[in-house]
Amino acid sequence: MANSKYEYVRSFEQPDILLANTWIVVRIDGRGFTKFTTRYHFVKPNDRRALDLMNAAAEAVMKELPDLCLAYGNSDEYSFVFHKNCSLFERRASKLTTTIVSTFSAYYTFLWSKYFPDDPLMPPLPSFDGRAVCYPSDRNLRDYMSWRQVDCHINNLYNTTFWTLVQKGGMDARAAEQELSGTVSSDKNEILFSRFGINYNNEPEIFKKGSVMYRDFFPTTGEPSTSAQKHVDTSTALAHPRPRRATARPVSQPIERSPIEYVRDSP
Ligand code: ATP
Ligand code: ATP
Ligand code: MG
Ligand code: MG
Ligand code: MG
Ligand code: MG
Repeated sequence: MANSKYEYVRSFEQPDILLANTWIVVRIDGRGFTKFTTRYHFVKPNDRRALDLMNAAAEAVMKELPDLCLAYGNSDEYSFVFHKNCSLFERRASKLTTTIVSTFSAYYTFLWSKYFPDDPLMPPLPSFDGRAVCYPSDRNLRDYMSWRQVDCHINNLYNTTFWTLVQKGGMDARAAEQELSGTVSSDKNEILFSRFGINYNNEPEIFKKGSVMYRDFFPTTGEPSTSAQKHVDTSTALAHPRPRRATARPVSQPIERSPIEYVRDSP
């Protein structure tokens, strides 16, 4: 293969090495999940089984890729954070992104029947897109996480109100959409509370905020732990370039701390 007359075609490849010493975030997102969730009868607006499945697939990805230090997910998306010092695949964007996307998709499919035993998967199968973005400062990374979490909150407040109008208010989709057009957050909170007795603040944290998963670099036990950790100081996670052990400790249950708090500014 080396030095063959065909080898010149390699020079057509575009370099895509990501800037050194920056956080690399790979975000994946389910393709056409609006349709997919309808097809598989997801409970609207939040199917807990589906969130648990997303978290299980993300946990598997973190276990397979020890360079990942943090992950945040909501709805049909997950953001995976590679450490600043990561040198996996020479930091090539396409290799990092496609490996995450295919590993996640494979586990999502593999684990499906555990979470949806009564709805076997049939083509078209679930698939995900992905992109890689570099964030130079800890502040940028924190703001990225805040951005995704605010998106989760805004979407969830809208979806919760929309589906309450439909499911409890007897409206059709069009009427509910019209009712909500031009409303701000306080209007939606008011609709939920005054008309349906629902206090949005009491909705499950996992719906309102999403899920965070981080690598515990210095586990206290020898065994990998998959139990929910609510109040663990993860500042060491971002301070050390390579993990001593490939141990992902997911927080796949409602969390009390915001995912943003898991990303600390450098001293
Ligand atoms: P695209 O391919 O552009 O991403 P999409 O249809 O997947 O298109 P998104 O903006 O990603 O568009 O929206 C995801 C859809 O999946 C939303 O309709 C959301 O409500 C739904 N969804 C995701 N997770 C769940 C869940 N756990 N329970 C119920 N619905 C969900
Ligand atoms: P990388 O992650 O860098 O791609 P790799 O181990 O996958 O590492 P490749 O250069 O892609 O390295 O090599 C693929 C390997 O899989 C080779 O060892 C090849 O012999 C083996 N392989 C692939 N397809 C088959 C097959 N159909 N039957 C037997 N072996 C196979
Ligand atoms: Mg999308
Ligand atoms: Mg999607
Ligand atoms: Mg999405
Ligand atoms: Mg290979």
